[in-house]
Amino acid sequence: MLRDFDPKSVQVNLSTGSGIVIEWGDGHRSLYSFRFLRDACPCANCVALRAMEDRWPGEPKQLKEGELLPILRPVSKLERVEPVRNYAIRLHWEDGHAEGNYSWEFLRDICPCAECRVQKDSAPGTTRPSFPTTKRIA
Ligand SMILES: [Zn+2]
Ligand SMILES: [Zn+2]
Repeated sequence: MLRDFDPKSVQVNLSTGSGIVIEWGDGHRSLYSFRFLRDACPCANCVALRAMEDRWPGEPKQLKEGELLPILRPVSKLERVEPVRNYAIRLHWEDGHAEGNYSWEFLRDICPCAECRVQKDSAPGTTRPSFPTTKRIA
């Protein structure tokens, strides 16, 4: 039986560059832009960097004086997607970065759709989404 965070289908729009669409076991649909996924990379390095900069997965870097707006900043392109057994996908970026295993559970957790964001925002005692930034995949 599919768990809620197991995908029914995964569609990677490499040629159009529009991102990855996942349909989940419970019928929910998530659309992740490549930029969002790059900023959400769950590898140890990126997790540490985000913790330092107080960002949650998918949140773009804070702008420093003179830096390009995130929308103008070139995003490294996704080269290919490698399945990691049946629990995750590993994303290979054009800049050579390929350390992050994006587990289904992690991806479901960071779903950027309005519905999921509202649920996170309204969770008791939190002012921002409580993403599992320290969760590691063995
Ligand atoms: Zn990373
Ligand atoms: Zn969602």
